[in-house]
Amino acid sequence: MEARAKPLPLEEIQQRIEQLTPEQAQRELSDNGEVVLVDTREPHEYAEAHLDGGILLPPAEVAERIDEIAPDPSQRVILYCRTGNRSARAAYQLQEQLGYENVANVAGGIVLWQEHGLPVAEHEGMTAEQRMRYSRHTLLPELGVEGQLKLLHSKVLLLGAGGLGSPTALYLAAAGVGTLGLVDDDLVDESNLQRQVIHNTKRVGTPKTESARKTIEPLNPDVKVVEHRTRLDAANVLEIIGDYDLIVDGADNFPTRYLLNDASVRLRKPVVSASILAFDGQISTFVPFEGPCYRCLYPTPPPAELAPSCGAAGVLGVMAGVMGLLQANEVIKLVAGIGEPLIGRLLLYDSLGTRFTELKVRRDPDCPICGPNAQEIPESEMGKFPDYEAFCAG
Ligand SMILES: [Zn+2]
Repeated sequence: MEARAKPLPLEEIQQRIEQLTPEQAQRELSDNGEVVLVDTREPHEYAEAHLDGGILLPPAEVAERIDEIAPDPSQRVILYCRTGNRSARAAYQLQEQLGYENVANVAGGIVLWQEHGLPVAEHEGMTAEQRMRYSRHTLLPELGVEGQLKLLHSKVLLLGAGGLGSPTALYLAAAGVGTLGLVDDDLVDESNLQRQVIHNTKRVGTPKTESARKTIEPLNPDVKVVEHRTRLDAANVLEIIGDYDLIVDGADNFPTRYLLNDASVRLRKPVVSASILAFDGQISTFVPFEGPCYRCLYPTPPPAELAPSCGAAGVLGVMAGVMGLLQANEVIKLVAGIGEPLIGRLLLYDSLGTRFTELKVRRDPDCPICGPNAQEIPESEMGKFPDYEAFCAG
């Protein structure tokens, strides 16, 4: 095996290659159509913005593929990257190891180029403001510009603009989810403010959907907020959820959860569902026919005396934040198609012990909604369960 020399320090490399200012590089590129311009960054960086005419050649591929784009070693080759460091090393490699005689590097890279106000080719579909706003997203290779565009084009419905809905809506809005529907018919109450952080003291008495919209709009003008100032019922559920790609269930009562489940399975809409009580929270993601549905998990609702919605129940305010953000995280993964959603998994969080526990959940072959023998139920039966009438009566 051939012994490899220690890589030179960057400063030394920079002294041994020809360095161009962005202006010099731009002038040469416009004067000489023969120059080969090489972008030595990663594909997701290139997708976001690149120099006009730049050919993508990631650092790991430079040595192997340079002869594809510059077969003649006497050809003029100009390289750039984000800040000029990776491309300096690549230029040095071309010059010293691969025999290229006429190589130069753009000092400061595309960052300095843009700081000097020189033009770049931008990814279609995102404005300059959006590229700035979402740059910490698009820098993630898993998400990139493609993932951000998916978020911008997505439509997510939040059931409830309360405890869980507040943090979920705030972070989804900040993340650039293009359309956020909010279903809630409640008014902001003083007792909400301990956890429903999208509202504030001045908005006590105003509709929650309106209050949430007024917080979201200045946070991110890319987001269109659709207010559904109503309660979901069997008569409106299909129409309301039909417009959305995905639903976040932060409902505070079991009848609504069953109703949403039955309608979302029928329309094959994924539902991210969380609940909180006292110091405990749980969350799962229901993707119809890929994993269990809410009824597979809970064939019957809990006894009324255990149902928090039947009366005021205590909850640690922070729980809404923790579980609401886990919901937002699930939404982003589902929309962008990354990671491993909580399908068939129920995640429990105990805040006093700071412990997460995961339970496997399977599809119930006898499920009346998503089981193999399930009959399509009439709309009037949607959301019904055996003791529906008695529920909460006490
Ligand atoms: Zn089911």
